[in-house]
Amino acid sequence: KKHIIVTGGVLSGIGKGIVSASVGKIMKDSGINVNSLKLDPYLNVDAGTMNPNQHGEVFVTDDGYEADLDLGHYERFLGIPMKKFNNLTTGQVYKSIIEKERAGKYLGGTVQMVPHVTNEIKERIKSIDTDLLLIEVGGTVGDIEGEIFLEAIRQLSVEEGKENFMFIHVTFVPYLGVTNEFKTKPTQQSVQLLRKIGIQPDMLIIRTEKEIDQSSLEKVSLFGGVKSEYVINLPDLNNVYEVPEVIHKMGVQNLIAKKLNISITNNLNWNC
Ligand code: ADP
Repeated sequence: KKHIIVTGGVLSGIGKGIVSASVGKIMKDSGINVNSLKLDPYLNVDAGTMNPNQHGEVFVTDDGYEADLDLGHYERFLGIPMKKFNNLTTGQVYKSIIEKERAGKYLGGTVQMVPHVTNEIKERIKSIDTDLLLIEVGGTVGDIEGEIFLEAIRQLSVEEGKENFMFIHVTFVPYLGVTNEFKTKPTQQSVQLLRKIGIQPDMLIIRTEKEIDQSSLEKVSLFGGVKSEYVINLPDLNNVYEVPEVIHKMGVQNLIAKKLNISITNNLNWNC
């Protein structure tokens, strides 16, 4: 099984969910069997009790699970019904571990973040049967809450082979009007945060308000340690449903296929 891990840097709300769902769509349209897993680093067991003013709509899956609105993006973009197993929250992970601990399943052992919490997360990832699993890590790299998910994924990438994992980091590059330049420093620092925990991104998707200049992209490539062809600029679009087509035209599906060593077909279908 191949995995694409989507992380976010610099800010939240930059369109990580849309990028993940769009990557899923272009891979599905390239003939690959795709499914998704959204990891939410909050302690709520599901999104059902969360205030929509704070958190946006609650998306109810076919099997009655109350999920984060991102599952709605996945269902609409991928065209496959989302289920309870497509979302894992920290609350679910801890609930399961505490129930096992109370039932004596750990046979008197000390229950710890590593390996017990990481194992619980790895088992959930392994349990999803598909050819390509798209894993979106909620939050922003550097958040305390998300660290354990990234650690579990890092471990899994070592155990299952790095050739089966591709890390896509979505970041924001602000434009400074007064000096008329794009500022890449926050992106450089967010890649450094990822590296510090043992993850080197394979692709950077740079969100900007308007199209970025080539020299800024090259700077990001150099400092981020990512080949320049794998540094993609995605400016704001009028309609998020255009994102799959835009990244398809840029050839993101070919870059993914090359990195993960999979063969794809060209089967376009833009009715998401
Ligand atoms: P994140 O997962 O990073 O929090 P979302 O994917 O939920 O972000 O997107 C945040 C908001 O930005 C949404 O309202 C979405 O419609 C909008 N958005 C995302 N990508 C783009 C884009 N390329 N152009 C314009 N708006 C976008």
